[in-house]
Amino acid sequence: MHNDQSFLASVQYYYDKAARHISVSDALLAQIKACNSVYRMQFPVKIGKSIEVFTAYRVQHSHHKLPTKGGIRFSPEVNQDEVMALASLMTYKCAVVDVPFGGAKGGICLDTRKYNVEQLERITRRYTIELIKKNFIGAGIDVPAPDYGTGSREMAWILDTYQTMNQEETDVYACVTGKPVSQGGIRGRTEATGRGVYYGLNEVVSFKDDMKKLGLTTGLEGKRVAIQGLGNVGYYSAKFFAEAGAIIVGVGEYDAAIYNSKGIDVERLIKYKKRKGGVKGFPGVSTFKRREQILEMDCDILIPAALEGQIHERNAGRIKARIIGEAANGPITPKGEQILLRKGVMIVPDLYLNAGGVTVSYFEWLKNISRVRFGRLAKRFDELAYLKLTQTIEKLTNKGLSVREKMSITKGADEIDLVNSGLEETMVSAYNQIRDIWKKNKKIRDLRTAAYVCSLNKIATSYQLLGIFP
Ligand code: NAD
Repeated sequence: MHNDQSFLASVQYYYDKAARHISVSDALLAQIKACNSVYRMQFPVKIGKSIEVFTAYRVQHSHHKLPTKGGIRFSPEVNQDEVMALASLMTYKCAVVDVPFGGAKGGICLDTRKYNVEQLERITRRYTIELIKKNFIGAGIDVPAPDYGTGSREMAWILDTYQTMNQEETDVYACVTGKPVSQGGIRGRTEATGRGVYYGLNEVVSFKDDMKKLGLTTGLEGKRVAIQGLGNVGYYSAKFFAEAGAIIVGVGEYDAAIYNSKGIDVERLIKYKKRKGGVKGFPGVSTFKRREQILEMDCDILIPAALEGQIHERNAGRIKARIIGEAANGPITPKGEQILLRKGVMIVPDLYLNAGGVTVSYFEWLKNISRVRFGRLAKRFDELAYLKLTQTIEKLTNKGLSVREKMSITKGADEIDLVNSGLEETMVSAYNQIRDIWKKNKKIRDLRTAAYVCSLNKIATSYQLLGIFP
C-alpha cells in the first residue's frame, strides 16, 4: 500500500469528514467509530516437515446489531490496522444497504500461493477453532464470508469445523455465508459483489445531469472500462459490464496489465488466467510496462478490484477515468481522493458499491435460519395464478398467446431470480438515498461523504433506539 496514512486512518478520516454533517452527541460518534472487539491470535500448523506459526485476526467493529458480519482475507499483507479498517467499513456498508448486521472482518497473514490445498484446509480449520474457542463465530454472534484470497471452498471448511464442534446447535448453517450451494449456500452469492458493482454503476450512469457534468452520455453501453484485479469481484464486474455493452479496454493483474482499445474478451481471458495463472501473454493485446499503468489508462470508468491504497497522491493526478467505481475496499487514499475530486472525477465509494456481497450473504443467512429455499412456497402458486390470468385475457380478447410467450409470462420466481432482483432493488434504492443526500445538501460535495452520512444516520438511530444514547 502506498500510504499517505494507514488504511484505518483513511477510513476514520472519511468518517470524521461525514460526522461533521450529523447532529448527534460526540459520545455517540465516538462509540460508532471505535472497533468494539479486536482478537489477534497466533497458532501453529504443521506444514510439510516443519511447524509454522500463523498470525490471524477477527475484529468486530460494531455490536449495535447482531450478528456481526464480514469476510475473511488471506493475504501476506494482512495486519491489525487493515482488519480494523475493513471491519469498520463493513458496519457502514451494512447500514447503507439496510442489512441488519454489525460489521466485522477477519484475516490470516499468509501467501496462498505458498501452500497446497491440504495445508490451506488445515490452516482454515485451525483458525475456525480459534474463533469457536473465543466465541467469535456463530449464527447470532459473528458470521464470516469470503474476501480477498478466499471463496466457497474455505467457507465449506469453516462450516464443517463449526458443525463438528457444535452438533447440538440448530442454526449451524448460518454460522458462515458464501458456502457452496450444496452445503447451504445460496444461488448467486459467488457473483453477487460483481453483480452489485454492475447494478450500482448502471444506476449511477443513468442520471443525465450527472453524466453531462462528466462529459459522458447516459448508459453503460459503449463505455470504456478498465479493471484492476481479475479475481472474484473484478471478473464478475467485467462480465456483467461486457454483457451490458461496455467495452473492457484494459485488465490489470498481479503479473501484468494488458489493454486493447477495441475490447478484451473477458471469458477468453478468464479461461487463459485459470490455465496460466495470470494474464501475461494473452494474445491480441498490448502490455503496459508497469502493471500499475492500468490505473492511468484512457477509459471512462475505472474499476479498482484488487486491494486498498492503489490510488494515492503520486498517481491520482495521472488518472484519466471520469468515474472510479470502488469495487475493492479502500482503493483510494484521502490525499489521492482530494486530487481526484479537484479534477472533477466521480468516485462511487466502496461502502456502497461493493455491498452486493454482504447483501446476498444476508439473503443466504435468512435462508439458513428459516431453513427454506427462496421460491419454494410461492413459485407454483404464482405460476398457476399467472396462467389463469393469461387464459382469462385470451378468452376475453379472443386472441391466443404463443407457447413461448405464455411460458415467459407465467414463470414463477426461482431462488436465483429472487436473489438477483433483491440485489438490484437494494443497489438501486441505496444509490438513490445517497444521491438525494448529495444533491440536497450543498455542503456535501462528494458521494463518499453522502454515503457515510446516509450510513451514520441509520447507525445513530439504532443506538438511540437501544436507549443508551440520547
Ligand atoms: P480475489 O482474491 O478473488 O481477487 C483479487 C485479484 O486481484 C487476484 O486475481 C489478484 O491476483 C489480483 N491482484 C492482487 N494485487 C494486484 C495488483 N497489485 N494489481 C493487479 N491485480 C492484483 O479477491 P476478491 O474477493 O475479488 O476481492 C477483491 C477486493 O474486493 C478486495 O478489496 C475485497 O476486500 C473486496 N471485496 C470482496 C468481496 C467478495 O465478496 N469477495 C466483497 C466486497 C468487497
